[in-house]
Amino acid sequence: MEKQYDVAIIGGGVAGLFAAYELSTHGFGKLRVAIVEMGSENPFRTCPMLNLKKLARDKECALCKPCNVMSGVGGAITFSSGTMNLRPDVGGDLDKLLGSWEEAEKLIQYVDSVLVKFGAPDNLYAIDYEQTSELERLAAKAGAKFVPTPQRLIGSENMPKVIANMVDYLKSRGVEIHGHTEVTDIEHAENRIRLKTTKLDIVSRYVIIAPGRIGAEWFSQLAKRRGIDVEPGPLDIGVRVEVPAYVTEPITKLVRDPKIIMYTKSYDDKARTFCTNPNGLVVEERYPDDSVGVNGESFATIKSKNTNFALLITVRLTDPFEDTIAYGKSIARLATKLGGGRPIIQRFGDLEAGRRSTWSRIERSVVDPTLKSVTPGDIAMAYPYRVVVNIIEALKRLDIIMPGIASPQTLLYAPEIKFYSTRARVSRELETNLKNVFVAGDGVGLSRGMNVAAATGVIAARSILKREGIEFEDG
Ligand SMILES: Cc1cc2nc3c(=O)[nH]c(=O)nc-3n(C[C@H](O)[C@H](O)[C@H](O)COP(=O)(O)OP(=O)(O)OC[C@H]3O[C@@H](n4cnc5c(N)ncnc54)[C@H](O)[C@@H]3O)c2cc1C
Repeated sequence: MEKQYDVAIIGGGVAGLFAAYELSTHGFGKLRVAIVEMGSENPFRTCPMLNLKKLARDKECALCKPCNVMSGVGGAITFSSGTMNLRPDVGGDLDKLLGSWEEAEKLIQYVDSVLVKFGAPDNLYAIDYEQTSELERLAAKAGAKFVPTPQRLIGSENMPKVIANMVDYLKSRGVEIHGHTEVTDIEHAENRIRLKTTKLDIVSRYVIIAPGRIGAEWFSQLAKRRGIDVEPGPLDIGVRVEVPAYVTEPITKLVRDPKIIMYTKSYDDKARTFCTNPNGLVVEERYPDDSVGVNGESFATIKSKNTNFALLITVRLTDPFEDTIAYGKSIARLATKLGGGRPIIQRFGDLEAGRRSTWSRIERSVVDPTLKSVTPGDIAMAYPYRVVVNIIEALKRLDIIMPGIASPQTLLYAPEIKFYSTRARVSRELETNLKNVFVAGDGVGLSRGMNVAAATGVIAARSILKREGIEFEDG
């Protein structure tokens, strides 16, 4: 079977959905648009209601009802805390991509307004610059930089509903969604691009490739096979830190998700805090190769007594081995093996002392872990020495900003690895060196968060609208 479209979007994550939104809003009746989505919701993902040890698609789980309407569309953000960072340089470098801070900021505001249109709650965390100046002072004392970031917290309960509303809108505007359909290859010819999928052949005049992190390796292989120009991306390796909520409260009551960046003295590597969840839960992720990872979530209705955040170290590889994805995956697999198929948990004091944690040591800790399906172990056995040294140094420096963070009792979970994908070389329109083949989102290395992922989807779509001579409001 073969179907023809004007624009085929590979991936129904935020980047793909926002591209479809823009195209179907302005090109309604003029452009035939399709989303091809392989359906990535991971059936092995532990349910956020972890203590019940249910899977995300368990019918009995109250949170699963919205998940079940998704039929795979929505991508990585669907089951997240849905924190919308209202800055163009958090979650990517949109300002650099566009060459203008003002334009980038305007685009982030536009993305936010679309989320609100589809039901994102009025849950804004603005920045009180008078109060945060104290945080900036403390960060400076620690040799770090605080990046004030206003946020909208959509919440894990609301995120699937926002996506579902958006999908309903897209369908009403004629967007065809091919769910549970994986694109395996692309054959490029000018004005006629053929997508090979697991169900049908799609021929389209334009293609937007937005496969997300889960499709990053597929994109990297595709680029090699089909001659798409790319450059190696970095990799973030780190730990999920969990402490009693009162330790971070003096800071998180000012800024819910403080972005703190520093460069370590030992290696001059970038270390940063990411995805802070006050009163949140640490959750397990399981990848297609059966390796595990950790992440954090926060809910409006389910509260823990802890705060968790990621502490990430940026790693760059150069000649002769530049494949950061393969490097990161081998570390994740090793950590999974050492954890007996589960994430590793370790007290900071044990990591510093060079010994593994045990359940009896963890039970003596004041921090009650919110993720229970873990194996007490030694993160230093799985992570490169350089990363471990950087983590220890960064935690100690964070202790200046948030006293108590570097307590021996602080819990660390691993592996927490963010793959930043092979980065596509693109024009300002986000077109690759293959004519009419555009890219967007995390999987092609252009973003690291939903704000910028969605914005790149909008940019790619607007480039196509311009090329087709279709007018749109430059929101
Ligand atoms: C647990 C978790 C929590 C997060 N929390 C936040 C947060 O609070 N705030 C924030 O800003 N960011 C957060 N992020 C990051 C955010 O989710 C991503 O930046 C964003 O979803 C990227 O969007 P995307 O469209 O590029 O990719 P994705 O959302 O990953 O979507 C890509 C889609 O493409 C599909 N696909 C891949 N390959 C193919 C193929 N070959 N054929 C067909 N379909 C394919 C996938 O199935 C997937 O649905 C979180 C991420 C995770 C994992």
